[in-house]
Amino acid sequence: MERVTGKAELIRYTERPEETVAAAARLCYSPEGAGEVIEKSGSADNARYIAMLKNMGHLSTFEHASFTFALTGVSRALLAQITRHRIASFSVRSQRYVDQSDFNYVLPEGIKNLPNADELIKKFDGQMRTIALWYGEWRGLLGGGGEKTNEDARFVLPNACETQLIVTMNARELLHFFSLRCCNRAQWEIRSVAWQMLRAASEVAPNLFASAGPACLNGVCPEGKKSCGKRAQVREYKDGLLKERQI
Ligand SMILES: Cc1cc2nc3c(=O)[nH]c(=O)nc-3n(C[C@H](O)[C@H](O)[C@H](O)COP(=O)(O)OP(=O)(O)OC[C@H]3O[C@@H](n4cnc5c(N)ncnc54)[C@H](O)[C@@H]3O)c2cc1C
Repeated sequence: MERVTGKAELIRYTERPEETVAAAARLCYSPEGAGEVIEKSGSADNARYIAMLKNMGHLSTFEHASFTFALTGVSRALLAQITRHRIASFSVRSQRYVDQSDFNYVLPEGIKNLPNADELIKKFDGQMRTIALWYGEWRGLLGGGGEKTNEDARFVLPNACETQLIVTMNARELLHFFSLRCCNRAQWEIRSVAWQMLRAASEVAPNLFASAGPACLNGVCPEGKKSCGKRAQVREYKDGLLKERQI
């Protein structure tokens, strides 16, 4: 067992996502047939067109572009949060079918920032090893292996326990997801994963995700008194992140 860190990798996406969205929208407003509209969307000024769709709120067209990510090194705590997003599809490593005796785990950020972090990280590592022993003990008591054993032994596992999942969202849902989860008010682990997803999606569809990010980047922060008040830094962070990938 070892400590792991969350990673998001874009593994599949709708072929030519921006053309697909633009073609879907053009079909709504054009007397031409679908074939002609699709052909035109290959060479047209899709950047301007997509910005117009975003501004007028014609976001159902964004639903035609889907993005599939592999999330690894993430905790079950993250899983509980990301699966609240209902307009998404998930496939998650099972704790019934997969033996967790050697589970990896995510170290909470807060522990790393404590003054005596080194000592406390060791303490946390030790606690994870203790939990693994409890898990092994319960597996033994519950039958020694197989899904019937695992499904009950897993009750002693921590939220820190690593999981891996494949998640698919369309561009409209991703914009919504980014507005909530890239926000400084979101929990650090899902925020980190959300920014990685935003960066990867922006790389392949920069116009669809031009305005992506926490709500403050597109208007007033909806958090009211709880606002972090760091809109300028958030903007700088996003610009830096995208520049890193030479977008
Ligand atoms: C900072 C933060 C703190 C949170 N704290 C808590 C907490 O303490 N406890 C808790 O339980 N949750 C908490 N949540 C989760 C939150 O309440 C939502 O469940 C989660 O963010 C998913 O958001 P959503 O429902 O807008 O998005 P999605 O499920 O992704 O849906 C996208 C949009 O589709 C529409 N939609 C989807 N389903 C329906 C429906 N059935 N009816 C009508 N419209 C629908 C809505 O417009 C919705 O915004 C927190 C979230 C954040 C970001």
